[in-house]
Amino acid sequence: SAKDKGKDSFCFYEEILSLELQFKSEMEEQMRLAFTNGEFALHFQPMFDIKSRSIKGYEALIRWNSIKYGSVSPEVMIPLAEEIGMIKQIGDWVIDKSFAFAQQTQLQGLYISCNVSSIQLSQNDFVENVLAKYDQYKLQKGSIALEITESCLVESFGEASQKLTSLREKGILIYLDDFGTGYSSLNYLKNLPADIIKIDKCFIDEIANSGVDSKILKTIISLVHDMGIKTVAEGVETEDQLHFLETCGCDLIQGYLISKPIPEAQVRAELGL
Ligand code: C2E
Ligand code: MG
Ligand code: MG
Ligand code: MG
Repeated sequence: SAKDKGKDSFCFYEEILSLELQFKSEMEEQMRLAFTNGEFALHFQPMFDIKSRSIKGYEALIRWNSIKYGSVSPEVMIPLAEEIGMIKQIGDWVIDKSFAFAQQTQLQGLYISCNVSSIQLSQNDFVENVLAKYDQYKLQKGSIALEITESCLVESFGEASQKLTSLREKGILIYLDDFGTGYSSLNYLKNLPADIIKIDKCFIDEIANSGVDSKILKTIISLVHDMGIKTVAEGVETEDQLHFLETCGCDLIQGYLISKPIPEAQVRAELGL
């Protein structure tokens, strides 16, 4: 009967839920082991300046090559790390590795940018810790960028922007990541202590098929420029997209057209480090 079916599906969902919990705690255990086993790595994706046709820096992107699961997407592992209280440990590791790398890339005028999750930024000792690493590796102005998302700003804009301002005063660049996907957006912009805005891939994807989106894109870029902020387009895959972005006055691009994220060892080899 229908009633029995309902009961069955209730049990079915409960079972899924308990499997999910089991999977989570199993993954948590694996994530803790990942540090000891050296399963985390950073890949780096170049940021390419359209005008000068040259690479200005690299974004650090975490990779987890798990013995148990194979490669786990950051889109999966970062939210889980936040949930199980491991984001600080992972975030600190990313910052340490990236800043150590920046100590060498800064000699070639190249910066390293790190993604920072909203939970990381909200921690009381965040600024202190970042500046301690910055000093430890003797980093110079413009050698480091931190990428934050709008979700960092939603809860307490005042506190977040104060932190970002004190980091900027030391010469750390602030990038607003995934612009256009959140709640805001333009309202935050005018008070935001940012150097660069990264326009999300979803806008770039629409360039080829939608006239309206390309108008929006043009308007965003000129508006952002009026505020003295530069723009990076994320996820650029075709020459046509690059040409269009060039006509819009976009400053930098990132995407498979230029390069996929590449292992640290390969970047080192390319830079002669
Ligand atoms: P994100 O910071 O917006 O990074 C851009 C993502 O787009 C990266 O995915 C990159 O590999 C991918 N991508 C770049 N160019 C192209 C392209 O032309 N086409 C396509 N289809 N994709 C492209 P990834 O590495 O999987 O990272 C996903 C997200 O995970 C990042 O988005 C970021 O939010 C987060 N993430 C990655 N590493 C870290 C980290 O170390 N810390 C934190 N907190 N978050 C991280
Ligand atoms: Mg990013
Ligand atoms: Mg992004
Ligand atoms: Mg993203």
